[in-house]
Amino acid sequence: MNERLKILPERLLPWFAAHARPLPWRKDRDPYRVWVSEIMLQQTRVEAVKNYYDRFLLALPDVLALANAPEEKLMKLWEGLGYYSRARNLQKAAKQVAQAGGAFPDTREGLLALPGVGEYTAGAVASICFDRPCAAVDGNVLRVLSRFLADPTPIDSPACKRQAREALETVYPRGRCGDFTQALMELGATVCLPNGAPDCGVCPLAKDCLAHRRGAQRDYPKKGAKKARRAEERTVFLLRCGDALAMEKRPEKGLLAGLWQLPNLPGRLTPQEAVDTAEQWGLCPAALTAELHKTHIFTHMEWNMTGYEIRCAREGGGFFWATKTDRREGYALPTAFRQFLFPEEREEREK
Ligand code: SF4
Repeated sequence: MNERLKILPERLLPWFAAHARPLPWRKDRDPYRVWVSEIMLQQTRVEAVKNYYDRFLLALPDVLALANAPEEKLMKLWEGLGYYSRARNLQKAAKQVAQAGGAFPDTREGLLALPGVGEYTAGAVASICFDRPCAAVDGNVLRVLSRFLADPTPIDSPACKRQAREALETVYPRGRCGDFTQALMELGATVCLPNGAPDCGVCPLAKDCLAHRRGAQRDYPKKGAKKARRAEERTVFLLRCGDALAMEKRPEKGLLAGLWQLPNLPGRLTPQEAVDTAEQWGLCPAALTAELHKTHIFTHMEWNMTGYEIRCAREGGGFFWATKTDRREGYALPTAFRQFLFPEEREEREK
């Protein structure tokens, strides 16, 4: 494998210098900024991250500000990005860095000791910020390598990432490690695209790419059999009293741990059963004003939700009744529930 990879730096570095997108986190190589961007970019599209990134850095410009941020503020800044444990781990790691004097670890091993930092993030920060020959192998990079080498190893097999990382690190160009890491990522994100549609006509690797030479780009990367996603029915309550909306905190462990949610129950209740439930909670339901159907997909499961909007004559039920101002300024609601809010309120929160 390694022999064929030797050509990568000389092909990719000039291409990257000419074609790199001007992304906000590429303005400098400050480890705090690069680290935050890499965590945000996990499982999230670049376009979606851009707004969050700027707002996050404005509110929490350095590692000390993040370490000392109140949890509600942090969750509000992350609201809608999903995978909220990323934000919690960011803060835990920031506290660890702050306690150690405020300087970021500059080696892969040191970075791996931070909560929420895995091989990919450690490789990205170590190479981009500290010019270490550490590869950052994600799905984009695996796709490029799989096609370039016409490698039949399934890219979701446990050993594949490690083998790719070790092979790449033998060809890392000293002094240009960060550019090389970013060039590989960039090629996967903008040229060697997923779903069988790579843009080989503009690819700097085309001459040496085995899949391209064989006309077999669509056959790579290979993937193992996928596990079916578990589907679950849920009934969601939009309980309104005046302009207040009933909310509650989720348990501290498990899915969406510790975040706010709209009250909800497993299974699909009928409209009458939903009203009866609101009655049992002591809310004096006056009218059921809407029935909504939404789906939210998590990594391993899917919620098929039926939402009932119910006007209530009184607050209660042990819920927190959040006013419109509360909902705008704090109390982050994950996307699974936010999609039930009125469109104008949803948009306001997404700005
Ligand atoms: S030539 Fe095509 S398939 Fe090969 S790395 Fe470039 S874009 Fe991907």
